[in-house]
Amino acid sequence: MGTSKANSGILHAGFDAAPGTKKALFNVRGNVLYRQLEAELGIRLKWIGSLVVALEHDNLRVLEELLCRGKENGVPRLEILSRDGLLDREPNLAHGVLGALWSPTAGIVSPFDATLALAENAVHNGVKVLLEQEVEQVLVEQGRVAGVVTDRGIIETPYVINAAGVHAGSVAALAGDESIAITLRKGEYLLFDTSRGDCVRSVLFPTPTKVSKGIVIGPTVHGNLFIGPNALDVACPDDVGTTAGGMSEIIEGARKLIPNLGLGSVITQFAGLRAVAAHDDFIIGPSSFVRGLIHAGGIQSPGLTAAPAIAEAVVEILRDDGLSLTPNPRFVPVRQSRLSFKEQNYTTRQRSFRLNPLHGRIVCRCETVTEAEIVEAIHVPCPAHTLDAVKVRTRAGMGRCQGGVLRSARVSAASKRVGHATKFRTQG
Ligand SMILES: Cc1cc2nc3c(=O)[nH]c(=O)nc-3n(C[C@H](O)[C@H](O)[C@H](O)COP(=O)(O)OP(=O)(O)OC[C@H]3O[C@@H](n4cnc5c(N)ncnc54)[C@H](O)[C@@H]3O)c2cc1C
Repeated sequence: MGTSKANSGILHAGFDAAPGTKKALFNVRGNVLYRQLEAELGIRLKWIGSLVVALEHDNLRVLEELLCRGKENGVPRLEILSRDGLLDREPNLAHGVLGALWSPTAGIVSPFDATLALAENAVHNGVKVLLEQEVEQVLVEQGRVAGVVTDRGIIETPYVINAAGVHAGSVAALAGDESIAITLRKGEYLLFDTSRGDCVRSVLFPTPTKVSKGIVIGPTVHGNLFIGPNALDVACPDDVGTTAGGMSEIIEGARKLIPNLGLGSVITQFAGLRAVAAHDDFIIGPSSFVRGLIHAGGIQSPGLTAAPAIAEAVVEILRDDGLSLTPNPRFVPVRQSRLSFKEQNYTTRQRSFRLNPLHGRIVCRCETVTEAEIVEAIHVPCPAHTLDAVKVRTRAGMGRCQGGVLRSARVSAASKRVGHATKFRTQG
């Protein structure tokens, strides 16, 4: 429910980061690893490619630079498309476009689905996930990690991996390591309903400037369209509210690429926080101050893409530190992926209903989510404990009405019980 739930969901190809940086290295490797995870864990993703679009003559030089950088980073099959080739691919693009960098290895993923698939598979293989438990203290004895104190008790351990996102600096400080300074940069988005999902075929970036990648337009794996993010420095790690100024900024930015956005189809807005490290690269490695504390901090974009590669690196760091690691002979790499009720065909739906009659009650009409799916979400290996967690697991409340029908149904049921509807307001 941190930054991994509020981002662009792009599996970047890897041409953006400067060669030699951790961002570049782990981006390219992570992109490759997602192909394996797609097959093994059934993560919902689509390899639709990305385009960095040039709108001005100066931009064409930047595209050449990105092409060279991408090749140096090891990104395959990059190519610069002419205006005609580009408009054939993306007919809704602004007609003044001059060309674009085409990266066929970029993709899109549901970030909820990806994180849950990884967590579920980990649990299946014996990992214990402790949800809603806050690390309040890191126990250090003679310069080495001895455990953590959480709001529910003490966990003894010789190793702590600090992957605390925007809180990575404070978690390091709990162990006495003050070396990690994280600043927060908010990115805001607008999400459109599925009627606009096919307005673009690939992820569209404007040509980046020195300060920003610019406003992106892309489809989601569930068929929606998003525009965003902007970049706004903020102070509070809970500040994920959206602003009127931010919305105007992203609309203006997106219109440069696609003039006819169809704003009437916007269904919601949201924001995520980038955890920006002082030297603008991932901080991955053992703490220089406390043994047994391993940092995976400052993981801003392309952190979602890089995540599986970062995990590989952390395993090597643990091995180098002397932790004895033996392969689990019973490790199951494959997760049995489930089709949602909405994705099932008529015959499968009938079978689902016979097995569990709760599939006969549709709780979320826009996304066709059944009561059985909601009950299942709170009993799976890595279960949902909150309404938001049910939402990201099942998509209940994520459709066109954004939970409005659910709320009015609840209000009208409550109104009937007490007899005067006017007392209730549809807030939720
Ligand atoms: C606007 C935006 C767009 C982005 N777009 C992309 C993109 O398209 N592609 C891409 O590859 N990357 C993208 N990223 C980057 C990507 O989202 C992040 O790099 C990634 O999600 C970071 O994951 P994380 O696990 O480090 O942090 P998080 O997902 O924030 O996880 C940190 C976890 O630590 C927990 N935690 C913190 N403190 C404590 C504590 N004291 N005790 C217990 N738990 C604690 C939090 O609750 C949280 O669950 C984007 C980021 C943003 C903000």
